[in-house]
Amino acid sequence: KFISFEGGEGSGKSTQIKKLAERLATAKLRAIVTREPGGSPGAEIIRHLVLSGMGKLLGPDAETLLFAAARDDHVRTVIQPALSQGTWVLCDRFFDSTRAYQGRLGQVSPGVLNAMQRVTIGDLKPDLTIILDIPVEVGMQRAAARRGKGVPDRFEAEDLQFHQDLREAYKQIAADEPQRCVLIDANADTDAVAAEVWQALRDHLFA
Ligand code: C5P
Repeated sequence: KFISFEGGEGSGKSTQIKKLAERLATAKLRAIVTREPGGSPGAEIIRHLVLSGMGKLLGPDAETLLFAAARDDHVRTVIQPALSQGTWVLCDRFFDSTRAYQGRLGQVSPGVLNAMQRVTIGDLKPDLTIILDIPVEVGMQRAAARRGKGVPDRFEAEDLQFHQDLREAYKQIAADEPQRCVLIDANADTDAVAAEVWQALRDHLFA
């Protein structure tokens, strides 16, 4: 099974992925945890480029092509091989991030996004996408606390309105594809959110 996790800054994706991986391990299910942008050696180099702000120099379409190149490598070298061995894949962000960040916020047209999607992932879609929803102020506070005195990356540094639009974009994706996506209120304690995630798996994958 292929499960992607989505959400804005500070929504708690990595914590929840870790918890789910532990739970699957207890159930004796083999799983790998990976992330985007990145997840393979080539894609991690591209991650460094885009998060440093280099993509912004290029403009939205070219920046999106960088994300697409990273995804292509990640899918080919990590995700597909794992799935074909029956290993579960838990991925921190996948193509819904591109649809939300570059599509709704980066003004990249649906035609460009669809063409890229065809090339990079073809028919591959997550079996389940967990979208962690959090009020923007809470998420940004969490992200800042995690970062400490470090410099925000290119996307974290965007303004409040950007993050509000992003939240709406994710809600829209969840509403458009209810059979694949589950929107979970992530403004709760970690264990309560983990219980909701597990319930989503039961409803969508084990039902
Ligand atoms: O989730 P994580 O913090 O690792 O994501 C790295 C950064 O890349 C985030 O700031 C996210 O907003 C950005 N991103 C993006 N477009 C994508 C994927 C990630 O802008 N398609």
